[in-house]
Amino acid sequence: MFRTHTCGELRIQHIGSEITLAGWVQTIRKFGSITFTDLRDRYGITQLYFNEQLNNILDAQPLGREYVIQAKGKVVERTSKNPKIPTGNIEIEVTEFTIINSAATPPFTIEEDTDGGDELRMKYRYLDLRRPTLRRNMELRYKVNRSVRNYLDSQGFWDIETPFLIHSTPEGARDFVVPSRMNEGQFYALPQSPQTFKQLLMVSGYDRYYQIVKCFRDEDLRADRQPEFTQVDCEMSFVEQEDILNIFEGLFKHVFNDVKGVLITEAFPRMTWDDAMWHYGNDKPDIRFGMKLQNLKTPVNSTPFGFGNSFQVFNNAETILAISVPGCSEYTRKQLDELTEWVKRPQIGMTGVVYIKCNNDGTFKSSVDKFFTEEQQKAIAASCSGAIGDLILILAGAETRTRKAMSELRLEMGNRLGLRNPDEYKPLWVVDFPLFEHDDEANRWVARHHPFTSPKPEHIDWMNDVNKYAEIKANAYDIVLNGTEIGGGSIRIYQRDLQEKMFAALGMSKEEAQEKFGFLMGAFEYGAPPHGGIAFGFDRLCALLGGQESIRDFMAFPKNNQGRDTMLDAPSSIDDNQRKELGL
Ligand code: ASP
Repeated sequence: MFRTHTCGELRIQHIGSEITLAGWVQTIRKFGSITFTDLRDRYGITQLYFNEQLNNILDAQPLGREYVIQAKGKVVERTSKNPKIPTGNIEIEVTEFTIINSAATPPFTIEEDTDGGDELRMKYRYLDLRRPTLRRNMELRYKVNRSVRNYLDSQGFWDIETPFLIHSTPEGARDFVVPSRMNEGQFYALPQSPQTFKQLLMVSGYDRYYQIVKCFRDEDLRADRQPEFTQVDCEMSFVEQEDILNIFEGLFKHVFNDVKGVLITEAFPRMTWDDAMWHYGNDKPDIRFGMKLQNLKTPVNSTPFGFGNSFQVFNNAETILAISVPGCSEYTRKQLDELTEWVKRPQIGMTGVVYIKCNNDGTFKSSVDKFFTEEQQKAIAASCSGAIGDLILILAGAETRTRKAMSELRLEMGNRLGLRNPDEYKPLWVVDFPLFEHDDEANRWVARHHPFTSPKPEHIDWMNDVNKYAEIKANAYDIVLNGTEIGGGSIRIYQRDLQEKMFAALGMSKEEAQEKFGFLMGAFEYGAPPHGGIAFGFDRLCALLGGQESIRDFMAFPKNNQGRDTMLDAPSSIDDNQRKELGL
């Protein structure tokens, strides 16, 4: 037997047993004529003890870091115990060992907190994966995967694979394309999602489908984006929006409990898209904390706060938004200057922030003392529920930019006040998304989710009037966790004429629609059931459950920010013969 136990397994009750372990040498500590070594594998670390006699062998055959060895010996109680590791009460008195493979000195130390920088660690990803942090992430990912499958299997979903070499899909990003050797000059596209296939499976009658599947989108990368990522993709027939929300709320509850031991019994709150934008300034609100956006300039109250003044910044602004930051009335000049700099950064794009301190002694002090009396400041504070000890922050300007900036400022203040605890899970559904969105650059309407999303039945008629487009709501929903969108879906169109109408509204000619999606509209003519579904980002869900921001460390072999795999050196050029064969 190669090994009798793993390096994470032995405990006090094994004392006296003769065992064999195999693994990697993590550390070597020599004390005169004896040597201690930590042996590591996927399961943990066990201390090995080499006595004087073996030490002579070690002198001739020295061990190095990351050597692979096999060690036989007896489990003994440790004199100085290490409570930090589960095997810390015992050690192995080695009687025999074999060096199975030597190792070059690793380019960085394989420990919890390591050095070397991201690029180096990506290049040696197989070594990085030995680190406990990444090992834990991989384990979490596996557990989330298993938990999702168990739940969906229990609900009668079938896992059905769909192809990767396909035609363009409609998720709105750029496609990765693959040249076809057998059809010279033609290309497959890699799926941005299995959207059209899962809808076709519904037409086939497979009414509960799921897949944990790779999707490919050629987008500019950020820390939380990867060109290939994994979705849990689902579709159901003969359902309404409510059925889908319930099934998937069940899934999330199951996974939180199963993987994290977090029991959520109450229903996930539901918020309309309009409300999310109004109160939080974005469609993925972090509801772990309050600090809702208050609109200080409304049509009814078009003079700011109902009283005239000469503060032109407010008078000229399309929107004035305020948040009341709890307990921050004692912010210093320096802290306030720093906040002003923060909102002036190009990503936020404001010219400044107005503050009102609701002092502990009941007085008010603001950056606009010249324009507003204390009484008026009190009224402003009251209008955004500012309490004694709070700091009111106000941004004014054009509607879209100001709302976005205030949403960011709210999150920033939430961070600073420690209100965004990664161990607290506050999921919610955002519902009633707009069907369309105006692309100002291209000056056209685009589908907010994708073109297969159905409008609310009562809004279908509005599709005949472009002036009404902005108001049309869809049966579309997102699931949001702690300020991050982790999934979204919709009830689909399943009638050919409505689908044609949708493509026309998006500016597609009949011919183009037929060329791109004729197969789907054709399928709708053969008895398509009402259906709907959802997909959620599996990598992101794992990162959130792991309490981390970046999805990269929850993937075994991710790409860097330039979309490169530095370990494989991909993408790379291909030789002339291959190019010729592909007709490129
Ligand atoms: N295919 C969609 C997406 O990838 C999800 C869905 O509508 O089910 O976002």
